Amino acid sequence: MHVHRAQWPTAFQPQGFRITYRFGTTNYCPGCGGTHWHVGRSSAQCAFCATAVPFAVGMYEERAA
Ligand SMILES: [Zn+2]
Repeated sequence: MHVHRAQWPTAFQPQGFRITYRFGTTNYCPGCGGTHWHVGRSSAQCAFCATAVPFAVGMYEERAA
């Protein structure tokens, strides 16, 4: 991985290159591009290819969990 942060698209968060499921918006599956999800307790699973994506949470939420 030799990617400079300054060259990353603004859609990527600077603190980590992670795919996350965000509530209140359309989430595209990294595996198949689908937008239908089975939402579980701590992650969402793609309805088409079963790719599991963790929820996007803030730092305070991670510490509280
Ligand atoms: Zn999928």
